[in-house]
Amino acid sequence: MGVAASVERRVLPIRNPRTGQADYQITPPTAAELLDICRRLREGQKAWGAASLEHRIQVMRQWAERLKAHSAELAEADSVDTGYCAISRMSPGIVIGNVLGWSSAAPNILERARLEGRSSIMPNIAFSTELRPYPLLGVISPWNAPLMLSLIDAVPALFAGCAVIIKPSEVTPRFVEPLMRSIAEVPELASVLSYVVGDAQTGQEIIENVDILCFTGSVPNGRKVAEACAKRFIPVFLELGGKDPVIVTETADLDRAATAVLRGAVFGTGQVCFSVERIYVHEKVHDAFVDRLVKKAEQVVLNYPDIARGHIGPFVFARQAEIVDAHLDDAVQKGATILTGGKSQNLGGGLYMRPTVLTNVTHGMKIMKEETFGPVMPVMKYKTEEEAVRLANDTIYGLSAAVIAGTEEEARRIGKQIKAGTITLQDTFLTLAKTRDVESNAFNFSGMGGARTGPGSITRFLRKQAFLTNTTQPADLTSAT
Ligand code: NAD
Repeated sequence: MGVAASVERRVLPIRNPRTGQADYQITPPTAAELLDICRRLREGQKAWGAASLEHRIQVMRQWAERLKAHSAELAEADSVDTGYCAISRMSPGIVIGNVLGWSSAAPNILERARLEGRSSIMPNIAFSTELRPYPLLGVISPWNAPLMLSLIDAVPALFAGCAVIIKPSEVTPRFVEPLMRSIAEVPELASVLSYVVGDAQTGQEIIENVDILCFTGSVPNGRKVAEACAKRFIPVFLELGGKDPVIVTETADLDRAATAVLRGAVFGTGQVCFSVERIYVHEKVHDAFVDRLVKKAEQVVLNYPDIARGHIGPFVFARQAEIVDAHLDDAVQKGATILTGGKSQNLGGGLYMRPTVLTNVTHGMKIMKEETFGPVMPVMKYKTEEEAVRLANDTIYGLSAAVIAGTEEEARRIGKQIKAGTITLQDTFLTLAKTRDVESNAFNFSGMGGARTGPGSITRFLRKQAFLTNTTQPADLTSAT
């Protein structure tokens, strides 16, 4: 023999969510190739991190232009990945908005993050700070909103001066090719931003090669990622699952509430981390609310067979349809009533589900405790505000929540008692509006680390270095007795 064994290449087949057929495949890099990519990015980061922020802004704006030019093919690739989910059509615009938004916001935020002054306990000591980007950020992202979520953390990190390597989900990798084309058209950016395709194994290999990591995905995998990062002593930011509650009070405008709940639970076939997954309604208005919700749910049209028509598409991930079906089976077996909708159906190979409203649900059912991630609306009665808050907080999650009441004040009073990072008042599903403006932390198992929105989302990629100068004489050890 005497020859090094050739490294076996893994080829992963990719399922098309509308046909159920594997019509695409990816080849993850070998460990050696991944190491090479990371070395190249680290090399590129030296100049990128040392350049002025103005220079990075200029380069990022060039990329925004290239993204605009590639928008149609990006939206199409993302749409094939997600079965033409509504978010896919919006994603290129959201990413471009993110790049341009950070171009405007970054200078002020980074200016404010630099500190200068005198020590409050030793006034002869002057201090100043420098912000040092972590050289290489790793991003591991999920299959829902694949393009958008792969870049939500990467964009502020690039402005901060980091290089970034991204591994999107193996379920939805088709957008990577057109996106890499847009990156290649801005060579300076290409020296500090790259994608690799692959699965959990590739994700773990990324952790071995980076200085800081952002993970978006499920709680069990988030835990594995956090453990691997802890072994390497690198900071990790986890954005995980949710089981978002909404409380509808006796005083709420029920039509408004039903409209908001339907959108919050069913948009994107319910495959959004901050989808409404539990609905608590005051007993006096429960039946009237449910009646409205069912009527509105029945107006939703599946976008099958015509992708250009209708409101919701298939499940992106076949396994997810099985989980949602299992939650419905468990609920019905334990006494729940399905008023409209029901289990997933195979239409032309895609797995679709009509908006599904259930009543007579309890917290003994999976549908009220585990993340469902489908267009499902389990509605439960409550008697008192205290009970509604207790039920809303009876969860391992704490991503976001919503309250719809007669007045904003009433909604806010109840919202303040809920343990979740983002509380929508008088509507649902407003989490995306935070962007660069507002920070929030996930509660419980929904996340870990600093906020991914607001000013802190860029400063978390910068190590703060303090410089201390003695403006008088050094303290003399021997002068004190
Ligand atoms: P997932 O945990 O299965 O996978 C997420 C990513 O992690 C994928 O790229 C996958 O390849 C990778 N991965 C899986 N196991 C890994 C491991 N052991 N080591 C390293 N990488 C690993 O999640 P998913 O099913 O793709 O996405 C859906 C989940 O993501 C839901 O729970 C949803 O709520 C959550 N999510 C959260 C947010 C948020 O902002 N909080 C946003 C979107 C989705």
